[in-house]
Amino acid sequence: MGIMNFTGTTLKNLFSKPATKLYPSVPQDYKERTRGHVVNDIDTCIFCGMCMRKCPTGAISVDRNTRTWQIDRMNCVQCACCVKNCPKNCLSMGKEYTTPDTEKTIDVLQKILTPEEIAAEEAAKKAQQEKIKAAMEAKKAAEAAKAAEAAKTEEPAKAE
Ligand code: SF4
Ligand code: SF4
Repeated sequence: MGIMNFTGTTLKNLFSKPATKLYPSVPQDYKERTRGHVVNDIDTCIFCGMCMRKCPTGAISVDRNTRTWQIDRMNCVQCACCVKNCPKNCLSMGKEYTTPDTEKTIDVLQKILTPEEIAAEEAAKKAQQEKIKAAMEAKKAAEAAKAAEAAKTEEPAKAE
């Protein structure tokens, strides 16, 4: 009985398509929800660093000053934690897996600002500094007024 089963399977396999593919010459069909690799739409990124803080393996580095975002793909475990926590939704999971390599490479993305964007950023910075300065001056004035009021109430008490 066992031999009959075996023969049947052998004959079936002889006349059916192979169960395997000649990957990579035949491309892989990825399922809809395959988590292959992390993709960043760098133009939408605000370099807040949330993805870096949420990554459990420390695969992502973000530098706000140089506007660079980088990922060590060999350290990434495709958990999609960074994707779920990105406030700008600029991260997503691409279906294809990272290409095999003999060396550990780090992918670096840098956002280049237009002159208008640089000017807008500088104006926002300046406005923020002025706001802080005005708040500090208001605080100082309030403290001085409070001290003057206290001195006024102390003077009549001394005269008596
Ligand atoms: S969480 Fe999103 S917006 Fe923030 S640095 Fe990462 S990719 Fe950019
Ligand atoms: S998918 Fe997970 S492991 Fe990979 S970079 Fe994002 S948070 Fe880190």
